[in-house]
Formats: sequence, structure tokens, C-alpha cells
Amino acid sequence: MIREKGLGERLSVNSTSDLAAPRGVLPLEIDSLVKHFGPVIAVDGISLELRSGECLGLLGPNGAGKSTLIRAIVGRVIPDAGRVAIFGSAAGSASARAALGWVPQDLALYPRLSATENLRSFGSYYGLTGKKLEEAVAWCLDWAALQDRAGELTRNLSGGMKRRLNMAAGLIHQPRLVLMDEPTVGVDPQSRNRIFEMIEALRAQGMTIIYTTHYMEEAERLCDRIAIVDHGRIIALDTKEALVHSAFGSRSQVLARFEGPRERISEWVAERGGRLVDGTAEFTVKHPTEIAGLLDGANAAGLELVDLSLRRPNLESVFLHLTGRELRD
Ligand code: ADP
Ligand code: MG
Repeated sequence: MIREKGLGERLSVNSTSDLAAPRGVLPLEIDSLVKHFGPVIAVDGISLELRSGECLGLLGPNGAGKSTLIRAIVGRVIPDAGRVAIFGSAAGSASARAALGWVPQDLALYPRLSATENLRSFGSYYGLTGKKLEEAVAWCLDWAALQDRAGELTRNLSGGMKRRLNMAAGLIHQPRLVLMDEPTVGVDPQSRNRIFEMIEALRAQGMTIIYTTHYMEEAERLCDRIAIVDHGRIIALDTKEALVHSAFGSRSQVLARFEGPRERISEWVAERGGRLVDGTAEFTVKHPTEIAGLLDGANAAGLELVDLSLRRPNLESVFLHLTGRELRD
């Protein structure tokens, strides 16, 4: 049995109302949103403006509040404070729902229906019928590369195929804004690549997308701008390049692995202002010529260098810089 946690929620979306919004209205505006669950503050004052045609990443560790934010946009979570507008309409309103496509983090599919039957069901909840419905189903099967499995019972599909079908079901009504909540969690690398290709196809069509993930590489690859989310807040929001630049300027990172007593390594690394991450020492340098001094110092401390590389800092480095913690699980 496929988990159906998201299913009931997704099904209550039902609208055929007019999508027309005045020109210049942003796809999404969030103002000072707050959501508590008992003592837990899941969303702690988030404001956000989404630009038309962009893919915005919400990047943050598990528990950061990404799904709660997405569910507040869909109208499934009632905020304690703040405001959400989708093309100018309130979250949960008929026109907001029709404009939104939501791919929930948990699979929301009927396991005993075929891929085609699932898509037909979701399409009809959005008011699609007849030729329009069949065209939408065909588009979805093509986009998700599931044509040759169209008649297969969903419960017999591979994990990656279910994920792709889950995504297609969220887009059956051709929404103008798509919210994808960790669509690659639990899929193998090959399926993950397929999913990236699907998202890249949407981007090429100019679709406006919010993509949540706790994988830095996904945010870097897919997103125009990235909001780093931690403890229910957006702690930084910009392009990858601008995030790296504001945290590190033009400095680079030196990654080095040493052999020698662990304690001596960690002492020496700390002394030189570096960090040890999974046994690799990370230093930030203004200029690559500083590497020579570092290596002399390591040598003098009796550490033997076994591996060395230089790189521009990435989003992982930015997260560590901003929070003092690692993004990885
Ligand atoms: P993320 O999607 O970034 O992993 P979530 O939005 O799922 O984060 O969760 C944020 C915080 O809110 C977590 O501490 C989580 O346990 C809590 N939370 C989320 N949904 C609920 C809920 N329905 N009831 C109680 N706590 C919740
Ligand atoms: Mg989540």
C-alpha cells in the first residue's frame, strides 16, 4: 500500500475558476508568515516574493519548516499570523487553488489504479473532462516518461516511477505556479536524473516553480534563486553566486586531508582557523599562494598531506558559514 498521507488533502482541491490575474501581479507574495504546532515554531516570520518564471529553491535541513510553508501556500495549513497571496488571491481560495500545482512530499496516489486512471482521477477533480482530460493525461504520461507503463497498476511501479507519477498528478491541470516538495527523496540516482530532466523541461517553458530540498546540489542545479531556510526563517535569499559572494567574497576554499594522529590534526586545523568536516580539513584563503604556507605549517606539525584541492565555496559552505552547522543529515 502506498502511503496516502497526502491523498485526502490533494483531492479536496477542486476548482475551474478563471485564472486571469491583472498584469504585474506576482505569482506569490508571502508576508510575515508564522505557524506554531504547540510549542514548535515551524514557520517563524517568513516573507517572500516570487518572480514570474523563476525557479526558487527552498534549501534547508529536515525540520526547517519547508513543508509547512508549502502547505500554507496551498491553504492546507492555517497560519497563526501573516498573509499569503497567489496571483493576488488568498491561499485556499478557488482561484489560488486552480493556479497552483502541488507535488506533496509524501506520495498521494491510488495504488490500485493504473497510472492513466490516477491521472484521469486527478484531472477530473480539477474539472477536466472529455478531450481536454485525455490530452492532459497524455501530456503527463509523456512528461513523466511513463507512456509504456500507462496501464500498470500504480502499486507495481518502481519507486522512481511512482515519484514521477506523483509529480505529473500535481500538474495535470496545467497550473501557473508549481510547488514541489522534495520530489527526489528516496529515489535512486537514475530516477533522480529523470526527475531533474522533467523539471528542466518545465523551466524551459517558463513555468514558475518553488522547489524544496535538503540537497545543495539540487538547489544549485535547478534553481535561479535559493532561499536558505533554517528554524522556520529564511536566513538568506539570492542567486547561488551572490550567496557565495556575500559569505566569502572572492575567497576560495582549500580542502586537505592529512595522515597523522587525529587529535594532532584537529588541533592544528583549529589553530590555523580551519574546520574538519568528515576528516577533511577546510580552510578559506584569499589567494591560492597561501596554500604553500599552510602546507609548510602542516609539515612542521608532523602531518603528512595525502590529498589537496582548491574550490569556490558552495551552498554547503554558505550554510555552514551562516548557521555553524552542516546541511547534510
Ligand atoms: P521540513 O519540511 O523543512 O522538513 P516541516 O515543515 O515538515 O519541515 O516541519 C517543521 C517543524 O514543524 C518540525 O519541527 C516538525 O516536526 C513540525 N511539524 C510539522 N508539521 C507538524 C504537524 N502537523 N504537527 C506537529 N508538528 C509539526
Ligand atoms: Mg518537508
